[in-house]
Amino acid sequence: MITGKNYIGNKLSATGSVSHKTFNPKLNVENEYAFYEATLQEVDEAANLAHQAFKEFKNTSGTKRAEFLNAIADEILALDDELINTYTSETGLPEGRAMGERGRTIFQLRSFAELVSNEEWRENTIDSADLERTPAPKPDIRKTQIPLGPVVVFAASNFPLAFSTAGGDTASALASGCPVIVKSHSMHSGTGELVASAIIKAAEKTGMPNGVFSNIAGSGRVVGAALVKHPKVKAVGFTGSISGGRALFNLAADREQPIPVFAEMGSINPVVITPEAIAKRGEEIATTYAGSITQGTGQFCTNPGLILTIDNDNTRSFIKDLAEKSTAIAPQCMLHPNIKRDFVKNGASVSSQSGVEVVAAIVEEAEPNFTPAQISAVSGADFLINSKMHQEVFGPFSLVVRCKDETELVEIIQNLEGQLTGTIMAEKSDYQNLGNIVDALQDRVGRVILNGVPTGVEVCPSMTHGGPYPASSDSRFSAVGTNAIKRWVRPFSYQNWPNELLPSALKNDNPDEILRFVNGNHSNDKI
Ligand code: NAP
Repeated sequence: MITGKNYIGNKLSATGSVSHKTFNPKLNVENEYAFYEATLQEVDEAANLAHQAFKEFKNTSGTKRAEFLNAIADEILALDDELINTYTSETGLPEGRAMGERGRTIFQLRSFAELVSNEEWRENTIDSADLERTPAPKPDIRKTQIPLGPVVVFAASNFPLAFSTAGGDTASALASGCPVIVKSHSMHSGTGELVASAIIKAAEKTGMPNGVFSNIAGSGRVVGAALVKHPKVKAVGFTGSISGGRALFNLAADREQPIPVFAEMGSINPVVITPEAIAKRGEEIATTYAGSITQGTGQFCTNPGLILTIDNDNTRSFIKDLAEKSTAIAPQCMLHPNIKRDFVKNGASVSSQSGVEVVAAIVEEAEPNFTPAQISAVSGADFLINSKMHQEVFGPFSLVVRCKDETELVEIIQNLEGQLTGTIMAEKSDYQNLGNIVDALQDRVGRVILNGVPTGVEVCPSMTHGGPYPASSDSRFSAVGTNAIKRWVRPFSYQNWPNELLPSALKNDNPDEILRFVNGNHSNDKI
């Protein structure tokens, strides 16, 4: 049941007087419930409780934390229609998407549960002593990974489940042993509160300490900033705009004790289509890309916002075809009137730059928060000299660049900001000649795709969902897949520690029979 209150640990709390309501963009009306924004005192209470909870939570066994994560998954499923109906009423997204995203969220929680069911994820490393070594004896050193402390997670507007309250950031932080405080997203506070209630129920059922999880509403600049600046908070996870992520990153760096901010921000995800590919299957590619550009009304961080081609007659008919196919897809609802407003403004800003031709424009719409796709085109020379065209237009937008040759195309990639993905659509006959393009993309992106679309981010250990700034604030980590847990831990070494005092993962007899890195080799053996 939605109460409109914050969860400060296990307690529902609403001591403030400022409230907001969410919005149903499909019906163009406010939703019923009012959500009370947290006061600075409530923020302080949540951070102190998380700090207290950390003392116990960091020492819970992996199996106990796995039980907690699986219980969260079960409780989310038990929310059933109430969750799905609240999600659709707060986002305008269809029921199928809500169910799919719930499935992804459940899968993520269970994947992290499985990961921490044994201690191998800590990459336990042992270097045995060598007392005979000259000129100085070598000490016994054993390394593991330990959790950082309370983590603040900023819920994302465009993934109310999978990148929000119990999304990948929360699941990975809890899996590692870090308590979590979620700064709820004001566009889907009801969905956020329902999921928070599921986490609290799961925490109580599995005996987790009070404060292991809190869910807080409020403006980012007041409540969000206070959370990031709180001395008891030790790391931040964020998905959203470059301006928001950068503001939080700066706040964290300005603290007396700076903390890491793992922000996943803007990306236009360049797609290179070779002349051969356009000549052989231009129509098929146009159909595939019309689908990718408009999927989820383009509100994905991996939306293909930039298509790089070599100019010729085939390319010009491809652009026309892509525009026709994209606009033939019925206008779809955006998440919120403000997202629609920004889409129109930013699309117009890119399209009004010198040399940009609007191939398929926004036409008169039937309903207020709906939009069709927008496809524009420009020459490589004009694109190269104008960085205003390089900005993200969040929504079903793509700019096709007609380059004069491969050299210009590669120069464009080299001049882009960091991106989550880069895609190449090519024929087999092109493969031997892609070296310069692949090399340029490798410098700029976190994941490169061949003959596919960037939308659809598989949840698996080999996934990289991150990239050079501003795609993410730290390109060494991924926000998706089980490796996302590495953001919330730090290495910790024991030197000359007696066997009986070591954690079981580092003990000589390897009681859990896990794989460790022992004296330079991976091994399950005792030492
Ligand atoms: P956002 O404006 O960056 O907000 C995300 C969260 O950060 C919200 O909780 C917000 O709080 C908080 N926040 C924003 N600026 C802040 C600041 N200066 N200090 C402290 N906290 C701050 O993103 P959004 O609301 O999700 O969407 C807005 C735009 O972001 C979209 O139109 C799109 O351009 C971009 N976006 C990109 C991606 C992507 O994956 N590339 C995903 C989502 C959104 P409040 O709003 O409550 O103040």
